[in-house]
Amino acid sequence: MADTAQIEEIVKQVLANMAGSAAMAGSGSAGAGADRAIPKTAHVAMLTSLEHFDVKEFPMPEVGDDDILVKVEGCGVCGTDAHEFKRDPFGLIPVALGHEGTGEIVKMGKNVKKDSAGKDLKVGDKVVSCMIFKDNPDITMFDLNKQNVGGADVYGLLPDDDIHLNGWFSDYILIRGGSTVFNVSDLDLYSRVLIEPCAVLIHAVERAKSTNILRFNSRVVVQGCGPIGLICIAILRTMGINTIVAVDGEQKRLDFARELGAAETVNFKEHKGIEALAAAVQEKCGGHLADFAFQCTGSPAAHSNIYKFIRNGGGLCELGFFINGGDATINPHFDICSKEITTVGSWVYTLRDYATTFDFLKSAKKIGLPIDKLITHTYPLEQINEALKTNLAMTGLKIAIINK
Ligand SMILES: [Zn+2]
Repeated sequence: MADTAQIEEIVKQVLANMAGSAAMAGSGSAGAGADRAIPKTAHVAMLTSLEHFDVKEFPMPEVGDDDILVKVEGCGVCGTDAHEFKRDPFGLIPVALGHEGTGEIVKMGKNVKKDSAGKDLKVGDKVVSCMIFKDNPDITMFDLNKQNVGGADVYGLLPDDDIHLNGWFSDYILIRGGSTVFNVSDLDLYSRVLIEPCAVLIHAVERAKSTNILRFNSRVVVQGCGPIGLICIAILRTMGINTIVAVDGEQKRLDFARELGAAETVNFKEHKGIEALAAAVQEKCGGHLADFAFQCTGSPAAHSNIYKFIRNGGGLCELGFFINGGDATINPHFDICSKEITTVGSWVYTLRDYATTFDFLKSAKKIGLPIDKLITHTYPLEQINEALKTNLAMTGLKIAIINK
């Protein structure tokens, strides 16, 4: 999800905050509901060496007064997980990975009453944690974070400790007091698994709106129809934008882009050279260049090209370079200066974007967008190694572990 150095810094920060926060005292109460039957042991997929998880069995930990024990229902596989699986760039092995998870509260400490948005919490509620970064204005503009982030929040990137239940690739996870947690009982399982990647796009669209160029009747180009571009299209469509033109080189993805709300598609492989490609985009935009463009690929050439799709005075949101994909060449005179293009970058999300994401997922369903189809492959926990390999092979869109 992020540049190695940045993630390392974040993990360090979180670990510093974690120290001493895992209070083990007290047996915890069951809150409003009755205790669910809780087994004596939990299973955690532990990355024990490069490209290898072992599903390990650990004793169920005590639930402290501020803690929440969650029975995990599922967890998406993220690029960050794949990165760690292949190279261990953060030096975390052995580690319980998985941060895009969700599940049901089976036990809560007596001090736990509300989630990070102030919603009541009880046994039986469905929750997600939030991998949110601290209030570092250099990353994004966080205001709500200051209120909501307690400390221990990056489950799925914590080194192993004597609790062990630190990641969402597991059947149980112990959410420690002070963590960011949201009650999302009103969303179905697949929607909940998609919250984290969707929050990235909600943030990007909010960044785009900050230019004051993206409007209800804008002509919008979305370049790149991987999960990021596809979710971007669904969000724009849910907002009511009609003229969305998807650009990609794979027909299957372009077809799915239509299902998620694109009005028109352009397969770049059918057009030789940037002039022909820009002309094709213009034609699909009803004879005009785009008012706004979202760059959702990690390809430097794609970044260079996208300016040619945008009208004078238009806007651009670059969000494809989630990690360092190298330098891109542009002509500052023709591409930015003389066209007066307003550009914004977007990276990760804020807590406010998380709350907006819940609403987006409900709205998307309401207007019939097949969001669930973004999850192309599911695996049980025992097949986590296969799940990661499928992610690395990039044959699907979103891969998820779904527990029985
Ligand atoms: Zn992620």
